[in-house]
Amino acid sequence: MKNFILLFVLAFSVCWSSQAFAKVNVFACAPEWGALAEEIGGDNVSITVATAASQDVHFVRAKPSLLTAMRKADLVFCSGASLEQGWLPLLVRKAGDRDVQQESIGWLMASDYVEKLDVMANADRSQGHVHPEGNPHVHLDPRNIDIIAEMLAERLLLIDRENMAVYQSNLARFKEKWANLSQKWVGDTSSLKGKQVVVYHNAWSYLLNWLGMDVIATLEPKPGVPPTAAHLEAVLARVDNASVQAILVAPYEDGDAAQWLSDKTSIPVVQLPFTVGGDAKATNLEMLFEQTITKLKGA
Ligand SMILES: [Zn+2]
Repeated sequence: MKNFILLFVLAFSVCWSSQAFAKVNVFACAPEWGALAEEIGGDNVSITVATAASQDVHFVRAKPSLLTAMRKADLVFCSGASLEQGWLPLLVRKAGDRDVQQESIGWLMASDYVEKLDVMANADRSQGHVHPEGNPHVHLDPRNIDIIAEMLAERLLLIDRENMAVYQSNLARFKEKWANLSQKWVGDTSSLKGKQVVVYHNAWSYLLNWLGMDVIATLEPKPGVPPTAAHLEAVLARVDNASVQAILVAPYEDGDAAQWLSDKTSIPVVQLPFTVGGDAKATNLEMLFEQTITKLKGA
């Protein structure tokens, strides 16, 4: 409710020009947000996706092409919760953009609108590359996607009022499709409930929370810190006798540590797509979830 009132106030404080937008320029930090913008924005948006599925969105170079995209952005759509803090604020500052500063209508951070996991009471730098506001990797729970789709539609129709009806109908269509898929996925994944996994980074918290699965160990000794021999030995001691389903890695993560543990334990390494484009079949949001579920069940 508070957010809605804020948006309402913002909508009236935005200085409207008389000519309509040609297209709304969306700067999406990651492929999942680009894909969602495509679902809700359709032909009315022009999307720049700042990172590929093969890239780690924690660490991105603020290269000139991104600066160009940021300069013309009407909406910046990212995960937030410090995930992009190493490069996004710098890019916005350099672009000097008027409409996409924090707290503006052109600034949409997905994690602001969902209940965050892994919130740390006393986060400090000694704990690694931490996200003190909670885990920012919110997109792998379909319930979060549903909420964020609504927030995105709300922003798009405030930015581009002429096409309000289009965004509303795109949202309605998406929500109906998503509700049906979510229901199917809940049925498809009932066998995964209670199963344990090892993860490289806590990139899967929302997915595992949704599926009712448990993380028994993390290959990183601290978030963002690469695995060390000592830490891996400790993990090995912990998982040796447990019934662990899989070792989960993202396409951009170094698979060596996961492979080492797999060789010692016979637990399979499963590379999940993590985002749209993360494997050949994960071509949109629906297929991202389909592929993730298929690979988890195959383990
Ligand atoms: Zn992270």
